[in-house]
Amino acid sequence: MSEKGLIFDIQSFSVHDGPGCRTSIFFTGCPLRCEWCANPESWIKKKHIMIAENVCKWENGCRACRNACPYGSIKFADNGKQSITWDICKECETFDCVDTCPNNVLKQCVKEYTVDEIMTILRRDFNNWGAKGGVTFTGGEPLMHHEFLIEVLKKCHERQIHKAIETSAYAKQEVFLKIMKYIDFAFIDVKNMDREKHKQGTGVYNHLILSNIEALKKSGWQGRLVLRQPTIAGYNDSDENAYKLIEFMNKNSLYEVNLLKFHRLGLTKWNQLGKDYEYSNHGDMTEEKMQHLQELYLNNNIACYIGDNTPF
Ligand code: SF4
Ligand code: SF4
Repeated sequence: MSEKGLIFDIQSFSVHDGPGCRTSIFFTGCPLRCEWCANPESWIKKKHIMIAENVCKWENGCRACRNACPYGSIKFADNGKQSITWDICKECETFDCVDTCPNNVLKQCVKEYTVDEIMTILRRDFNNWGAKGGVTFTGGEPLMHHEFLIEVLKKCHERQIHKAIETSAYAKQEVFLKIMKYIDFAFIDVKNMDREKHKQGTGVYNHLILSNIEALKKSGWQGRLVLRQPTIAGYNDSDENAYKLIEFMNKNSLYEVNLLKFHRLGLTKWNQLGKDYEYSNHGDMTEEKMQHLQELYLNNNIACYIGDNTPF
């Protein structure tokens, strides 16, 4: 039976996910749990719902979702306000609530795709990409779908489509290297060089990530690798962390880093998923601090790009 991929979004005109104009495919499921994550809907490797509470019409007496849910997940308090038992919804396979909501408050945010369906979408977008563009596999963590991804990559390779990946590199080394063989351009996140701080911020240690990057460089891989860091005040914005990353990059002949200034664009999604957002009032970086870090990398012969200001 052919593999299927669980995908939570496909964006056809991405201009910040690699060279040129690209089609970005967002896989669901991630082995990390970054406290600042902008796409928390991508954490679970299964279909699930999100809720846009601010457009719910419960004040008008609507109770359609509660009546449709066969598992008793949705309740309404005495003041009428809706509440969801997320532990019940996490196990749901039927999503009876979604189609009954007259206001699109409830959204099923992950769909299943076959390899052929993905290739049809890529063929549709092919003419938009221009000379440098192509497809970017992102998420979530695309490596969690490696069996499906390898089939898509082989077909892209046959059609000479440029292939990029945004990954944590947190996967078994043999899986990581097998996928990377087909990749032309990669963003790999290195969130913190300190082992304990990496675990504290992301839920996992950084050893596997760093050793996978080292193995990739030793493998003779011919692609272009840009390390990425979401830069967060009080977590990974110290000079010490930057110097450790520079040392690692020098050791592995890596020359490009992309610092992404912390933002809160994912805040609404955390609310929609019923989760508390750790970084609601801290973590902000100043422009001056971003420039300071950029200079530090540049002074150590590393090309450092801030945000979308990249040469690709
Ligand atoms: S996702 Fe499933 S369990 Fe949750 S409210 Fe909808 S029907 Fe009920
Ligand atoms: S069906 Fe939709 S609008 Fe009505 S109460 Fe449920 S979520 Fe709100």
